[in-house]
Amino acid sequence: VTSGPDGRPDEFDTIGRLFRPLAAGAREARGLLDDAAAIPSRPGQDLIVTTDAIVEGVHFLAEDPLDLVARKLLRVNLSDLAAKGADPYGYFLTVSWSPRCGWPEREAFARGLAEDQARYGVLLFGGDTTSTPGPLTCSLTALGWVPHGRGPTRSGARPGDLVLVSGAVGDGFLGLLGVRGELGALEPARVEALVRRYRLPEPRTALVRAVRDFASAAADVSDGLIADLGHIAEASGVGVDLDLRRLPLSRAAKAWLEHRADPVAALRDLAAGGDDYEIVCAAAPDQAEALQRAAEKAGIGLTVVGRIGEETGVRVWYDDEPVPVTYAGWRHA
Ligand code: ADP
Ligand code: MG
Repeated sequence: VTSGPDGRPDEFDTIGRLFRPLAAGAREARGLLDDAAAIPSRPGQDLIVTTDAIVEGVHFLAEDPLDLVARKLLRVNLSDLAAKGADPYGYFLTVSWSPRCGWPEREAFARGLAEDQARYGVLLFGGDTTSTPGPLTCSLTALGWVPHGRGPTRSGARPGDLVLVSGAVGDGFLGLLGVRGELGALEPARVEALVRRYRLPEPRTALVRAVRDFASAAADVSDGLIADLGHIAEASGVGVDLDLRRLPLSRAAKAWLEHRADPVAALRDLAAGGDDYEIVCAAAPDQAEALQRAAEKAGIGLTVVGRIGEETGVRVWYDDEPVPVTYAGWRHA
């Protein structure tokens, strides 16, 4: 254990002992000894760059173990890269430690990053370290590569395209209910699985190639399926019809749904809830099958849940019945 004169861990110990090992092997990082990192250009490729910040008390709880907090921070950024069809490359990290972050907490944070770095094949390139009397705040910028001009944006959807979503929708929403102790009727093992998925989402990195090769537009589901589909529709200048009957659900979500008095409203809540970190995308009808096959090869289901139309807006259906939506997804102030 090292610490500053007042007995608290300091910035340079933290960088040297905890962050430098995470940059080992990345020439870009210059050993975390320089003022800046250097990214060598890759001819014929575009560098895709995305940032997400998380704040204690807003995105995670003050009691949450910091290895999980760090892993979620990295994973939500890798989810954005996956939605852009970008191969993960490296990341920058800015941390403002709160008073509760002594050595054990900082070590846990770095341990979590080390674990997921290895899992997803990224290294730390640089960042900044400060402290605050306020809540722990961290921001991570992830970098990935795509062949020049390739990879879907939110703006490429065209009328007639099919809308597909990966994995299962609504587990993030249910996981948050589980964290709040509001899933009492569900089996403890199921609640645990949902909470775990909420705390540690699975970025769809395995879908990078499929999304890049076959999707006309894509986004990751962080605000909620309905809201994120709305973002695609708006950016593309089109509309979308979403059929709740087709929503792919986990077994835990199906079990939850069985106890709902109004299952259609419950399905709508799953589609409005956020934190799924699935990929929602559009694909021309003649590309959708290849997209699904590629996803299947990657071991991830991609389900058709709707269609892009000319008329702007998001319309939600259950079969042929329109479903009213008042709450489309989370937004910060
Ligand atoms: P400056 O004084 O220019 O802000 P620092 O002393 O903050 O420089 O940073 C020194 C080195 O340590 C830089 O290479 C920087 O990228 C790295 N570094 C600082 N904090 C972090 C962090 N949280 N994660 C990764 N690298 C960091
Ligand atoms: Mg600094």
